[in-house]
Amino acid sequence: MVTRDKKIPVGVLGATGMVGQRFIELLQGHPWFELVALGASDKHNGRPYAEVTGWRLSGSDMPASAAKLPVVACRPDAMPQVKVVFSALPGEIAGEIEVAFAQAGVAVFSNAKNHRMGADVPLLIPEVNADHIAAIPRQQKQRGWSGFIVTNANCSSTPLVMALKPLQQAFGISKVLVTTMQSISGAGYPGLPSYDILDNAIPYIGGEEEKVESETLKMLGEWQEGQGFVDAPLVVSAHCNRVATREGHLECASIQLERQASPEEIIAAWENYVPESQAARLPSAPERALLYRREIDRPQTLRDRDAGNGMTVTLGRLRPCPLFSYKFVMLGHNTVRGAAGGSILNAEWCVNKGLL
Ligand code: NAP
Repeated sequence: MVTRDKKIPVGVLGATGMVGQRFIELLQGHPWFELVALGASDKHNGRPYAEVTGWRLSGSDMPASAAKLPVVACRPDAMPQVKVVFSALPGEIAGEIEVAFAQAGVAVFSNAKNHRMGADVPLLIPEVNADHIAAIPRQQKQRGWSGFIVTNANCSSTPLVMALKPLQQAFGISKVLVTTMQSISGAGYPGLPSYDILDNAIPYIGGEEEKVESETLKMLGEWQEGQGFVDAPLVVSAHCNRVATREGHLECASIQLERQASPEEIIAAWENYVPESQAARLPSAPERALLYRREIDRPQTLRDRDAGNGMTVTLGRLRPCPLFSYKFVMLGHNTVRGAAGGSILNAEWCVNKGLL
């Protein structure tokens, strides 16, 4: 593991929201990054974080070091000391703000949708497509900025792609059908009115199915130096549903493999998967990126979302599928692995590769 003499000063944009709070929780005591700046909308006017933020996370208190930081506007000149920003801004405004930081020489690690499908922007999960950071020099040259933008995937694409990667590598995949059961925190705070979601499941999340279907192909695809990103040659069909759980997205998938494999071989491909980034022992990497549970009724949202401090994707219920080759269930923590934790891991990978 890389060690550093001096920590990198970092900021969080959208620091008061669901994902912003996760960033603050996970950055506390980080060995490489020091949280020095918090940004949100102008209305907070430099008031201390504790004064303007209701802490929403269970199991942790607002870190004292963050509580006293002023909440400033999301502009590079309002936080000139940062070298890295983690963006948890809404898609409606994230795009231009993130560009302004990259132009100011800052490395941006974004959770927003705006730049994910950019032709020179890595949509990164280190365990899946670590080599996609090769796009960064081209991005800097083409855009003429000294900073850069790296994005992480939508919170429902993340567990799916992590589950598919070892199988794609070992057996090839031609078709994927996935149905998600996504928690309410995925909609931010305050999210849906309780009257609409309690005792309910809603079979529509705006734009989500399109994101799962396109992001999966980019992440499982290749970066080719002469050509850029080339999508993986597979078809994905997604049904996305909002359900009344607080955190954790449970997903059921059916997949068509290109080569036959036994259930034991598939489970072995998941259990023995140790990508380069895992071997690098990054500070936020869980001991196991993928965990297959053999109990017939796991993974469960409540019981398994915190596996590996929320960074492990839990798999289970592998069985033959009458339509395709196999079906199985997976679960990922949406605000940790699918958002803040994933973004911090992306930044750690860039440190490991000498980009920061
Ligand atoms: P959220 O709870 O609604 O938080 C939004 C944050 O953005 C708040 O800090 C808010 O601060 C700030 N903000 C709003 N308008 C602003 C403006 N005009 N200028 C500057 N800051 C502004 O949303 P979230 O769930 O954390 O999601 C944040 C981003 O992450 C979104 O792009 C979302 O799609 C993505 N994401 C979310 C999840 C998830 O599971 N929730 C997972 C993956 C990706 P104020 O206090 O000023 O309002």
